[in-house]
Amino acid sequence: MVTPAPEGALCRDHPTVAAAWVCGRCGSFLCVTCERRTRPDAVPMCPACWDLRGRSVAPQTVSSGTGLQTAALVLGCIALLPVPVLQIISVVVNVVALVKAKHPPARNVRWRPITGLALTGVGLVITALVFSGAVFDS
Ligand SMILES: [Zn+2]
Ligand SMILES: [Zn+2]
Repeated sequence: MVTPAPEGALCRDHPTVAAAWVCGRCGSFLCVTCERRTRPDAVPMCPACWDLRGRSVAPQTVSSGTGLQTAALVLGCIALLPVPVLQIISVVVNVVALVKAKHPPARNVRWRPITGLALTGVGLVITALVFSGAVFDS
């Protein structure tokens, strides 16, 4: 919603200049020099909110979040079951999750694929024991 500044309001950053708009995000007054818009008909924003917007938009396009790392950890837990197929899938997903975790926020949760790989290793030992036991029993 485009809100014109009330009569007599002054720009937050230029106390001698009359404000033209109310910032669409934080509600502070801004003059025409300060206004920032994504499109000519978009809601005007103050420079501070514009900077925040630029910063919050950029990381989202670079990183896909931490979903893959979380999935890798869950798979690592499931790979504790003595099913070789699960461990193969888990190793692949955990390695991919670890390789892709080069930038935040995924980098901050690198312990998830690392733990996932460790759990998968334990799962492989369990599988080996179960299968060797089955061979000895028969
Ligand atoms: Zn603002
Ligand atoms: Zn201004």
